[in-house]
Formats: sequence, C-alpha cells, structure tokens
Amino acid sequence: MKVLVVDDHAFIRRSLGVMLRGLGYADILEAENGEQALTLMRAHPGQIDIVFCDLMMPGRDGIETLRDVVENAPKAAVVLMSGEDERVLGAAGDLAVSHGLRVLGTLAKPITADQVRGLLTRAARPEAHRPKRAAFDVEPADLARGIAAGEIFPVYQPKVSLDGGAFVGVEALARWRHPTLGLVPPDAFIPLAEAHGLICGLTDQVLHQSIAQCGVWHAKGLVLDVSVNVSGEDFVRLDLPEDILAQARGAGIEPARVVLEVTESRIANDPTALLDITARLRLKGFGLSIDDFGTGFSSMAQLRRLPFTELKIDRQFVGGALTSDASRSILESSVDLARKLKLTVAVEGVETRAEWDLVAALGCDLAQGYFIGRPMPGAEIVAWAAGWRARPD
Ligand code: C2E
Ligand code: CA
Ligand code: CA
Repeated sequence: MKVLVVDDHAFIRRSLGVMLRGLGYADILEAENGEQALTLMRAHPGQIDIVFCDLMMPGRDGIETLRDVVENAPKAAVVLMSGEDERVLGAAGDLAVSHGLRVLGTLAKPITADQVRGLLTRAARPEAHRPKRAAFDVEPADLARGIAAGEIFPVYQPKVSLDGGAFVGVEALARWRHPTLGLVPPDAFIPLAEAHGLICGLTDQVLHQSIAQCGVWHAKGLVLDVSVNVSGEDFVRLDLPEDILAQARGAGIEPARVVLEVTESRIANDPTALLDITARLRLKGFGLSIDDFGTGFSSMAQLRRLPFTELKIDRQFVGGALTSDASRSILESSVDLARKLKLTVAVEGVETRAEWDLVAALGCDLAQGYFIGRPMPGAEIVAWAAGWRARPD
C-alpha cells in the first residue's frame, strides 16, 4: 500500500508517519503543500492507495488537492484532516464523495493513533464505505404496469417505546417484487413514481395492504399502530381522509392506529389541498407524522402550518449524534421543540445500543432502527413480537 500524506505541518507529517509505520504501512510519500502533492501524484500514476490530506494549507488548499486526486489518483481512498470546525470537515468529506472518491473518514486534529487505526481498518473492507448506487434502472411504463399488477407490497419495521420497550407499531415500507429484477428497493422507484404521476396508485396499494394487515394483527391480539409514507403529491385527492377511514373501518381498526408520515417532496404541491386534507385527517382521528425532520424537505414552516401529532427525527442526526456535536445539538433541539409542541418524538435509524441509550436519555418516545429490528414481511411480525418480549436488555 502506497500512502501519500499532505500537510503543511512537519510535525503532523512526522507523527502520522510514525503511526502508519506502526500499523505496517512502510511506503509513505510526504508533501508539504498541494503543489508537491500534485507532483507526487503525477510521478506515481495509479499507484497511490491512500491519501491523507490536510484541508487548510497555504497555496493549494485541501479542497483543490481533492480535485487533483480525482484527476491523478482516482482509485485512492482519502482521509481528510483539519483543525477546523468539524462541519468544514464534514462538508469536505461530502464533496469528496460527490467527486466519486472513496472517503475513509475525517480526522479532527489532534490526531490519535486509535483514530488512524480505526480508519485504516475500514480501508481493508473495500465495500463498506462506498456510496450505495441504485442498481436498478426502471422505466416509468414498467412501474405503471407493476403497480397495476399488484407487485408493490409493504414490509414492516418495528417501532418500540423507549420507555419500557413495548412494541407499539410498525412503519410500512414499500417493496417491488419485479418479475425479472427481483426485489426492488423504494429508492429505485418512489422518486420515479412521484415524477410520473404514479404515486397515488402506489400509496393506495401500500395503505390498503397495511391497514388490512393491521386488522389481521389486531385479530390475533397484537395491537399495533401502522405508519404509512405519503408523498406531497398524494395530497391532491380530497377524498383521501374518507377513503382511509372506510378502509380502517373495514379492517376493524381505530383511525388513531393509522399514522401518515409526510415528507415535503421535491414537487411543490397545492397548499390549500394539503391543509384541507391534513386537517380532515386529524378530525377523523388519524395520526400525522412529519418525516425526516431536520432535512431540507421538512421544515419549521410545515410544523407551524400543519396539524402534526408526531415528529420523526431523520436518521442522520441519530447516527451522527455520538460523534458530532452539531448532530447532537440538532437532535436535542428537535426533541425540545417536539416536547413544546406536544408531539410524540420518534427517532429512526437506531443502529446500536449506544444510540438507543442516547435517544432514551434525551427523552425520545419511540425508536426504530436495525438495533431493534429490520423491515420484514407482515407474516413475520407476530413471531418477532414474541422474540422482542423475550429479548434480554
Ligand atoms: P424513510 O421513510 O426515512 O424510511 C426509513 C428508511 O430507513 C427505510 O429504508 C428503512 O429500511 C431504513 N432504515 C431503518 N432502520 C435503519 C437503520 O437502523 N439504519 C439505516 N441506515 N437505515 C434504516 P427503505 O425501506 O429503503 O425506504 C427508503 C425510503 O423510501 C423511505 O425513507 C421513504 O422515504 C421511501 N418510501 C418507502 N416506502 C414508501 C411508500 O410506501 N411511499 C412513499 N411515498 N415513500 C416510501
Ligand atoms: Ca418514513
Ligand atoms: Ca427518514
């Protein structure tokens, strides 16, 4: 493995060199500025495996050096280093990813040997940190056919109470069982459905199956809320509340058991219809959750305008809260805001015990995530519930 260390501080280059050699990396190139780095990359075309790059350097800065890496060493994995604000590091990391570079991580100075070891362990797992690519290329006409043919179905991810751990509900997540492509994930077809006027038909199918499934669980004594994702474009059908009410009655479940998760989507919707429909959904007793809270699509203005019952904090803030002060502050403030507005606080993306403990300590109400359970077919939920009750702390 050939490693390039770019930093204007001789001390950093030296101590990083010592750490790297201690970890078995003997082939180390050093540059004290961006110009030298560029020269070295050109002198070793296609041979550099890892670049440690400082952001703040006189002359060419780290951001410019990233562009040089793209041009001259595109296969290299990068580690960004800075004594600056962690958000500058985060932004530079995002930039590197959007350049198509493989980012092993960022190091806030002072750098410790443990941090470096942690990052390089990741380097050994090549796939782990590649940005996920949608491997499915689907045509709108095919999607329209699939919806009509009933190929869309929900899987269900458990939501549990952080206070006591009771299993209280599920989120329905759409999947497409495609005749030739196999199981297609929602990222590959929801945006397409939204862009081609197909989302209403899709939402109908997910809602219908989820409400019916909820009725089946109730009949077995498992009383669960079911949350269904709806897009902005779904809020053009003025009969949506009546339609869902009829379905809930048909399945024998109370309206309060059905929660609609709303994300303001990319296409502007009719604000009058949105207000009309959300107000009537609430009047009929349905729950209304503001999804992905904290992201660009879910804003304070929406919170003020619409009669939400639940605030669902986006998983990036949960995942980031243990390592980033900024994420943690956003998480804490969101919980505080939800409390003041008397909303239920749900968090998604809880992946570890440490994250569970943190969100519980912050006073969140409901948690969802891989630490608790993965999305699964409806038929597996009853067995999962029994296992969850039996699970030791
Ligand atoms: P979302 O509403 O934010 O749903 C949560 C997503 O996070 C799900 O991805 C879920 O599988 C994933 N997830 C759950 N726990 C964890 C965790 O611990 N770690 C991580 N990294 N991820 C976790 P999924 O099923 O791929 O859905 C992606 C998105 O597609 C959803 O994001 C939602 O925006 C959209 N979507 C799914 N089903 C529907 C639907 O029926 N209608 C609409 N309009 N959108 C849907
Ligand atoms: Ca959701
Ligand atoms: Ca989300």
